[in-house]
Amino acid sequence: RAKELGGRRVEVFAAHMHADVVRRLELAADLQRALLAEQFAVEYQPVVDLATSRVTAVEALVRWWRGSTFVPPQQFLGAAEDTGLIVPLSEWILREACREVANWRASSWDIGLSLNLSSRQITAPRFVETVEAALAESGLPASALTLEVIEEMLVEDAEEIINRLSELRALGVRLAIDDFGTGYASLALLRQLPVDIIKIDPSFVSGLGRDETLTLLTRTIVRLGHDLGLIVVAEGIERPEQLELLREMGCTRGQGYLVARPMAARGVDSLMRTNLSPLQNTA
Ligand code: C2E
Ligand code: MG
Ligand code: MG
Ligand code: MG
Repeated sequence: RAKELGGRRVEVFAAHMHADVVRRLELAADLQRALLAEQFAVEYQPVVDLATSRVTAVEALVRWWRGSTFVPPQQFLGAAEDTGLIVPLSEWILREACREVANWRASSWDIGLSLNLSSRQITAPRFVETVEAALAESGLPASALTLEVIEEMLVEDAEEIINRLSELRALGVRLAIDDFGTGYASLALLRQLPVDIIKIDPSFVSGLGRDETLTLLTRTIVRLGHDLGLIVVAEGIERPEQLELLREMGCTRGQGYLVARPMAARGVDSLMRTNLSPLQNTA
């Protein structure tokens, strides 16, 4: 009897695993098709200078409509990374975003581009050359490009990744640590990488004004960043109170739904044409 039950359990488990494998294979095949069919899009989320409310940069965020269903990046980036599709996908995002931002800059708008990297992309052959080519083709100056990395990327191939990022930094590209404060080695990372910017994770920003510890931690990160001569960007600003506190703390830049949601290139076009800060009313 026990054996029978045990056997059944194994079967159920195997069936469940099987369904999971099939789902992942389908996702991988769909990703491949989507890439060929150019079903991906890039959205841009404005980042503002908190003192002046001016837009200083846009962060490129990949979008995928799988048929009529929107699939959030975190639901497909893992599969894209596992299958290697992240490499051509990221290269497409890089070129597309450099081209758009170079166009905005050509209308005398001094904005930068921030791009999220994946570890497989950085370790792919010729990553540095690919970035250089995208800059050259678009005419975007290296100093207008910021590459965002997260701590987890340095768990494997840390030396190779640090070397490549350092090479890009030597070309004038800026480096940012995204989701700062959430990893266990955020502080150590500041010594390993030649970083220019830290982006405070929304898990700190969310508690501003509501949670004493999170407010204190945010204040400490802002001060730490400034003491190290870094630009500090607060992410996930959703409430006016958060914005007020960040301004009072002297945080350099901010990003979040209260400032502006990620938008298609057309949205950024009109933002540029009206020459209004998305924060006009809260300046
Ligand atoms: P991230 O780089 O930390 O990007 C910020 C995420 O927070 C974005 O989610 C953005 O839409 C969202 N966000 C911005 N403001 C707010 C806010 O006020 N409240 C809340 N709740 N969320 C806000 P998204 O677009 O879903 O991207 C999630 C993550 O996926 C990104 O986190 C990044 O790690 C990754 N990702 C997105 N696009 C790319 C890409 O092109 N390449 C790579 N390698 N990773 C990407
Ligand atoms: Mg980011
Ligand atoms: Mg982040
Ligand atoms: Mg994140």
